[in-house]
Amino acid sequence: MTAIEVKNIQFSYNTEDVIEDVSFTLHQGEFLGIIGPNGAGKSTILRLVCRILTPRLGSVLIFDKNITMIRRKILAQQIAFVPQETYFALNFTVEHILIMGRYPYLGVFQREGRKDIDAVEYALEQADVTKFRKRPINSLSSGERQRVVIARALAQQPKILLLDEPTSHLDLHHQFAIMELLKKLNTLGISIIIVNHDLNLASLYCQRLLLMHEGTIYADGTPKSLINEKTLRDVYGTSVKIIRHPDRDVPQIFLHPQGE
Ligand code: ADP
Repeated sequence: MTAIEVKNIQFSYNTEDVIEDVSFTLHQGEFLGIIGPNGAGKSTILRLVCRILTPRLGSVLIFDKNITMIRRKILAQQIAFVPQETYFALNFTVEHILIMGRYPYLGVFQREGRKDIDAVEYALEQADVTKFRKRPINSLSSGERQRVVIARALAQQPKILLLDEPTSHLDLHHQFAIMELLKKLNTLGISIIIVNHDLNLASLYCQRLLLMHEGTIYADGTPKSLINEKTLRDVYGTSVKIIRHPDRDVPQIFLHPQGE
């Protein structure tokens, strides 16, 4: 079954198109990475897929239904989005923020019940933020805050998870922990799209990659088929050396420092 189908979308913030006729499919249960240089349109694609933005042309289908026909609350039960940065105007506690992840399941004046509390506890534990549960969100470091935002997305119990550079503020241990957590969630049936600048992490964890360049999809395939020296030189304008990961049959990338 198809989780997401993006059909011929075009989008512009102003007059110039930043997304030009992009189509792709996310199959249910897939772990898809979107890579590409700065400004290629990766974040914009995620925002179009969760209806923060609306395409100028083309359509987005979620489980075969046009996204424009899905009520916001129902959509939030299907898709959770973890943006690159989240600004909290009010200094809620971590626990409170996770409870907000349950709003798609609650009526207007309905208080959270056992199922909601369990979902919050599960998410706190999975994202390794239980020890911060009573802390105000703005007292946390950016990496800790990012894990709370991921935890809130988990509390939402979505079928599809979209993440925009979720590991960029994290130390090595938490980068590994988050990627392993995403892998586990994926094996439990959540379909995932992750935008990731770290090509080695993307190659190691994603089953399939979309390489974006100047608002279009330059290549779509497995890490092994897509990551090669010529393609990366063409798209990133940088010479790299690529070798096979010592334990997995996936490519890993090394830079050449100049002058040696
Ligand atoms: P990426 O995630 O690949 O770095 P983005 O999707 O963020 O790229 O941006 C694609 C293009 O759209 C870039 O040229 C960027 O400058 C432009 N852009 C992004 N957000 C906005 C915005 N809010 N208003 C105007 N232009 C934007």
